[in-house]
Formats: sequence, C-alpha cells, structure tokens
Amino acid sequence: MSITHNLGFPRIGADRELKKSLEAYWQNNISLQELLDSSKKLRQQHWQLQADAGIDLIPVGDFSNYDHVLDMSCLLGVVPPRFEDNDTQQQISIETYFAMARGINRNDKTIAACEMTKWFDTNYHYLVPEIHKDQAFNLRFDKLFNELEEAKASGINAKAVIIGPITWLWLAKIKGEDFDKLTLISPLIDAYKEILNRLKNQGIEWVQIDEPVLSLDLPIIWKSTLEFVYRQLRTHNLNILLASYFDELNDNLALTCNLAVDALHIDIVRGENQLDKVLQYLPEDKTLSLGIINGRNIWRTDLDLALETLKPVHEKLGDRLWIAPSCSLLHVPVDLEREKKLDSEIKNWLSFARQKLSELNILNNAINQGEKSVAEQLQLSRDANNNRQHSERIHQKKVKDRVSSINESMLSRNSTFKERSEIQKKWLNLPVFPTTTIGSFPQTKEIRKARYDYKHGEIKQHEYINFMQQEIKQVIKEQEQLDIDVLVHGEAERNDMVEYFGEQLDGFAFTQYAWVQSYGSRCVKPPVIYGDISRPQAMTVIWSQFAQSCTDKPVKGMLTGPVTILNWSFVRDDQPRSDTAEQIALALRDEVADLEKAGINIIQIDEAALREGLPLRKKDWSEYLNWAVRAFRLTAGVANDATQIHTHMCYSEFNDIIQSIADMDADVITIETSRSDMELLDAFENFAYPNEIGPGVYDIHSPNIPSTQHITDLMKKAAQRIPVERLWINPDCGLKTRQWPEVKEALARMVESAHQLRDEISI
Ligand code: GLN
Ligand code: ZN
Repeated sequence: MSITHNLGFPRIGADRELKKSLEAYWQNNISLQELLDSSKKLRQQHWQLQADAGIDLIPVGDFSNYDHVLDMSCLLGVVPPRFEDNDTQQQISIETYFAMARGINRNDKTIAACEMTKWFDTNYHYLVPEIHKDQAFNLRFDKLFNELEEAKASGINAKAVIIGPITWLWLAKIKGEDFDKLTLISPLIDAYKEILNRLKNQGIEWVQIDEPVLSLDLPIIWKSTLEFVYRQLRTHNLNILLASYFDELNDNLALTCNLAVDALHIDIVRGENQLDKVLQYLPEDKTLSLGIINGRNIWRTDLDLALETLKPVHEKLGDRLWIAPSCSLLHVPVDLEREKKLDSEIKNWLSFARQKLSELNILNNAINQGEKSVAEQLQLSRDANNNRQHSERIHQKKVKDRVSSINESMLSRNSTFKERSEIQKKWLNLPVFPTTTIGSFPQTKEIRKARYDYKHGEIKQHEYINFMQQEIKQVIKEQEQLDIDVLVHGEAERNDMVEYFGEQLDGFAFTQYAWVQSYGSRCVKPPVIYGDISRPQAMTVIWSQFAQSCTDKPVKGMLTGPVTILNWSFVRDDQPRSDTAEQIALALRDEVADLEKAGINIIQIDEAALREGLPLRKKDWSEYLNWAVRAFRLTAGVANDATQIHTHMCYSEFNDIIQSIADMDADVITIETSRSDMELLDAFENFAYPNEIGPGVYDIHSPNIPSTQHITDLMKKAAQRIPVERLWINPDCGLKTRQWPEVKEALARMVESAHQLRDEISI
C-alpha cells in the first residue's frame, strides 16, 4: 500500500487569519496570548483539514508566525548579535523573533531587520540567516517540539519538518570577517543531531528534512559535505525523509539517491524526466516519495496521466512508494471553494491547496484499491480537463494566428541605437544628466478611496475620470515646479502594476481570496492566466494623453512588460511560458503603437521581475533569457525611431545577465543602485553597455532622504564607468509607497544635483 503525505500547508489561513492577527498584535490591538491562540487555532484547523482529506502523514513544523527559515535559525539558536546579548543561553523570545523579522524602531534606536530574499525561484521571501566566524549553535527555540506535542494531543499522525543543514548553511550570509562557511559544519551537525534526538525522544517516527539546494548547481565540496552530513545524522529509531523540490536533481541525482536516509522525495512535476533514473539508482531499502501534484500552480491535476506514471512505480516499489505534492503547498492559495464570483467554467479547471490534497487521496485510492473505487471522481476530473482543453474561452484563433505570423523584423526597431539616439536627441533636446522618475507618485488615501469607490459603483465613471485627471494635473504641476525633465502621469489609477493590465486583457481571471504569502503578514493575489491573451482596447492612453496635454515637457507613457506580467501571475500549464509571453507582448505592442499615435513619444516598459524568472540551473538560463528578451523586443519593436523606449528593473544583480539586458535594446534603462553605492555598475567595467542608463540615486525603500552631495557623489561614481552623455538621474523605483513631503524634498535635491553636475561639466 502506498501512502500519502504533505510537505507543507499554507499557513496564512483561508481568510488570511494569520495576517490579521499578526498585524493586530504589532499594532498592540491584541495581546501576545491572543496571537498565539489564533496561530494555534489555525494549526489545528489545517491539521484537521489535511487529516479529513485522507493524508496519512501530516507535516508539523511547517507553520510559522513569520517565516520558516527564521524558525530554523532560531531553533539553531542563531540570532545576530545586534538583537540580543551575544552569550545568552536563554530561549529566544517571540519579541526577539519579530525583531529579527521586522527590525526595531524605538525612539532614536534603529536596529535593522534581517535581510529578506526570495526563496529559490518562488515569490516567497525568507529571512536570510546571518552567521559569523565563531558561530555557535544551541537549541533555544522550542516551537517545533511544542507543536509536535500539540499535534500528538490532537491525535494527528505527525511528521516533523525542518530545513536541512546544507540548505540552511548555503542560504546563510556571512557577517563580519570572511570565512569558509563549511568550517561550521561540525558544530552544525551536532545541533542537528540534538534536534533529531529530541524528536526521537518525543516518539516521532518520521522527520522530513528539506534540502531544496539539491536543485542547484552545487560546488563539489558541498556535495561531498552533504554525503558526510547525512551519514552523521543517522539516528536510531527515527526515520529521515529527505525532500528535494523545485527542479530536477540533475548532477546531484546519484548522490541524492545514495544518501544515508530512509526515504527520498523528488519533484516529478518540475523534474518529470528524472523518474526512471532515480528508480535505477534508488537502493532497495529506500522509500520513494513522488511529488506528483503541482505545488506551484493552481490547475487541476490530470489524474489519468498521473496514474500512468504512478502505477508502474507502485508495481515496482509497493509499500515503498509515497505520493505527495511536488513541494510545500505554501505557494498556492488555500481553498478554491471560497471563490464565489469566479466564473464556474474556469473555477472547474482549478485546484488550490485543499483540492490538491483530495486529488492526492483519489490517486492513492486508485493505486491501492483500483481505479473503480474512485471511478466517479476520476471521471469528474477527466471531464473538467477535457472541457479545459477544448473550451472556447481559452483558444482564440485570432491570437494564435497572430502569434504564428510573428517575424524577425517585428523584433527590432527600424534603426540602430546610435541612429535612433540622434533622432531622439533632436526633438527631445534634453540637457546632460536628464532627470526623470520611475512612474508612480505617492498613492494617497484619497486616491485609494477613489479607486475603491469606482470599483464598487459608488462613484460614476465621469466622476472617477475627473478625480484622476485632477490628480494627474497636480502631479504634472509638481514635477514642473521641481524642474524635472521627463515627466510621468503618476499611475494613480493603478493599484498594482500587473493587476491593472490583467484586468483589461482577455485571458486573465481574478480571484477574491486566492492569497499567497509573500513574506510575513504580506500576501499577494496573483492573477490567473487561463487563456489566449488579447487586448480589447487601449489600456493607458487616456491617462498619458491627458497628462501630456497638461504640459509642454515630454511625458513618459508607462507599461508593465510582458515578462513581469507573466512572472507575477499563475500561468497556463498547457503551453510553454514563452508562448504566453509572446501573446502578452503582442497585446502590449499594440498599446505602444496606440500611445505613439496619441502623441506619447517616450514609453517605459517596466520589466521589474525579469530576473526573477531565471531558472535555478545555469544551463537553463540562456533558453529563458532568449525568450524573455524576445518578448520585450516584440513589445518595443513597433516603436518608431523617434520614440524613446525606456525600461526599468528593480534589482541590483546585473553582472550575470548584462548581455541579455543589452540585447533588450531599450534606449534608456533605469535600475536600482543607490543601496549598493553604485557597486552594481562594476558590471559595466568589463562590459560596454551600449545605451543610456539611469542608475537610481534615491532609495525609495527607505524613509531617508539622500543629500544633494550624496546624489552628486553617486553620479560621479557612475560617470567613471559610463560616459556622461548616456547618464540619467532618477530614483531607484516608483514612489507610490512614499509620502509627498519626503518625495518632494528628495526630488528637489536630485534636480539640484543635476544642475551642479551640468555646471561642473560645462566649466
Ligand atoms: N512604474 C512602476 C512604478 O513606478 C514601477 C514599479 C516597480 O518597478 N516595481 O511604480
Ligand atoms: Zn522598481
């Protein structure tokens, strides 16, 4: 008999209960006890829900009050010294825990939170562990052990879940003097041994140790350490399930199969081709868990296809087969049943965490008791998938025809950058060091209210338009007064840079409750791309055109790029992502053409999330970058030479993809640099970036306002690497989360710095 298990359940709650109680606690509206009670209630509900769905082994330890990587750091007793006395042996308090997550801001005391970054290629952010040369480990955070007791008391068949030592260490960041992280391996092993012993003493049978680093290109020394570590961790009377996920094992496959553990979990959604090889390498006494249900997307599983994969494996392995979602369900929303407004046909194609667990149960019953035992459920699923395959909602002949008629000439501008730039310089007539912003201006309460009222039918369309036009007028006036050179309309009409476009494009669906945790109490509700994408009408022209009518200075039109729209949505699994990207690109291409026609001759196509889509393995990078760059070029390629195309990216790692960024051939790129002190521009030392560039000089993520001198210094640094005639001055990113007074001050200093620099140059 095969059994089912789950790797992790979304912790935020179907109603975002965790978010609500966390925020209430932080605002002192509820007590710590109330927060802990509500967390406990959520855990209980989620365990029960999984048990009711027929899951045999239920994960415990996957719940977190903020982040599971932070939980692991605390379990190991790793707290950066700025948060507590260095040699303390005390239990880590929840106050210290939240301080690490959120920083401390009391009176004049500011202690920076731990850094946050993306968990592999997901949109979940974890808190980066900080280690130093003499890092000690001691178990002083009993959350895991307490939760296991809690589960036991509730009669739950619990499997403990922790992050593996190699993954934890790999993700940790060195603070202070540099050293080889692997020198910490021996005390780290001791700490893990102690954890495992405590689990064993609690009567736990199985522990799932997550090692998603197995999906990465690992240096050879890390591989051998991995082998060594698991040999050390063997614990009598405690079984280890080693979990890999997010991609195939690739060159780590043989190594992983032979690790000294009792069971191995592999992702066969992302790594569908690795199964045969794993079966070949798997030792005879080892259990194999197959991650067959997609933990990263929201589509119903093709159960027939899954059974075709599972049946022969079951024949071979029998009891040694377990089945599971491909990875933790943290990355999908909780419960489809809550969606009341979603079109019923589309809804029938979807499956959220709860539904995925029932799919798992159906599969398991089909394997163990024969397909007849679940014939009805299989038929329902088959019908839904058949309907999806053939639905007219999905397949638009017009879109497909247009995609197949894409030709090379559509992917390029008419002339080279050099030629374009001359034409553009003539009509733009900008000074050196031209100033601009990234698009959005502060989103005030009034703006949000107007959008809300309009959406809920409380104000009429003309009232809404009128409000927005007043807003635009004001934003233009402010920019003119500040003497900025290239103006923007301010994006007041957008609540989100992807949702705004998704709502106006065909092929997108929006949910009411499909929240996914992004970090801590923050959630996102990604749109669902279900069908061929087309643009019924222009999406941004009325706003940009109005803005341009308010000023003689050039106004920059503002679009979100195809790759960013794709990377921040749940995407179709019935065609390659690159095909979907092309469809979005064609729709945006029409928007570029319409903006141009309306007299907007500077257009920014934001690709904030282009880097996020990079595959985990280097070998897969070029394929991704090729189609991502192609999608951008397809969008921008329609522009006349005189139209200046900008793009914007908000991250500070460029070195490894700089060639692709150059290949996008935007006339101007604005990027995040202010925090890295222009270090990012080092990439430009060995690579002659050919076009214009605006390195951000104002860190919009911080309430600090940079001094004029600081901005000038940054620009001078930039000028050492990039010819001045190709430099722009702008903030790091959009200003929507900031307040007007600080924005005005920062931009005034930015313009002042531009004036200084211009004077210096002309001397
Ligand atoms: N144009 C967008 C804005 O200014 C860009 C946001 C982003 O890069 N995340 O808000
Ligand atoms: Zn940005």
